[in-house]
Amino acid sequence: MAYRGKEFDNFVRYLRTNLPAAKPIKVQTKEKLKYLGATYHRKDYILIVIDRTQSAQVMMDTLIHEWAHALSGPTTKEDSHPTQWGICYGRVYRAWVKFKYHIGD
Ligand SMILES: [Zn+2]
Repeated sequence: MAYRGKEFDNFVRYLRTNLPAAKPIKVQTKEKLKYLGATYHRKDYILIVIDRTQSAQVMMDTLIHEWAHALSGPTTKEDSHPTQWGICYGRVYRAWVKFKYHIGD
């Protein structure tokens, strides 16, 4: 089992500060998921679940993907990754570059 890692926790904290959603975002890591990650839009919060048996890099990629779902809101089965998700993904990826490489605005 891969340890989710200090960098993962630090980036979650960074995202909470720099890219918050309308509701609090909870992040859980679990074993034996059928998917790399998922985002659930609940009434009072948003839940992100990530497979912690994956490598640190895959977990980080998944966190970036799911945080974009948290920001862009619920989607439909027909179009689970609409343009608005893509725009949010760009924002989260940009936050990752700034966090990882200390590249400012
Ligand atoms: Zn997705």
